Amino acid sequence: MELYGVRIPTIVTDNIAARCAGCGEVIEGWPWRVSILDIVAPEAPVSWTESANLNPGPFEFHGDPKHVLAWMARRGMLFCRRSQVREIMRPVWLPVDAHPQESRRLGLCDGIHRDDHEFVDPAALAADRS
Ligand SMILES: [Zn+2]
Ligand SMILES: [Zn+2]
Repeated sequence: MELYGVRIPTIVTDNIAARCAGCGEVIEGWPWRVSILDIVAPEAPVSWTESANLNPGPFEFHGDPKHVLAWMARRGMLFCRRSQVREIMRPVWLPVDAHPQESRRLGLCDGIHRDDHEFVDPAALAADRS
């Protein structure tokens, strides 16, 4: 197809249509891939091997951060509101006082800002931005 003289390649996906990890719908065009980087943040001295059950992705989404936030919320992750949803997210393990049986929770941050993280419920953040 052509739009204002710019050629937009049509993506043919007859075999496997990518589905958004956030809403479960088929993704038209290129999926937005988000991966979780396997670094250990200095805030949480937990070795990466202890979190080996974490799937680093890449996860595929529609090109809207809300879909990524919805996915994080469903998996019980927190999102640092000083960051943006980017293709590479850095994991930060956070202690959880209220739930001793699950002693930590995963927070995701883009790791670009230099000040303190501000982890919030991603579902609340998505609602704020709508
Ligand atoms: Zn979606
Ligand atoms: Zn942060």
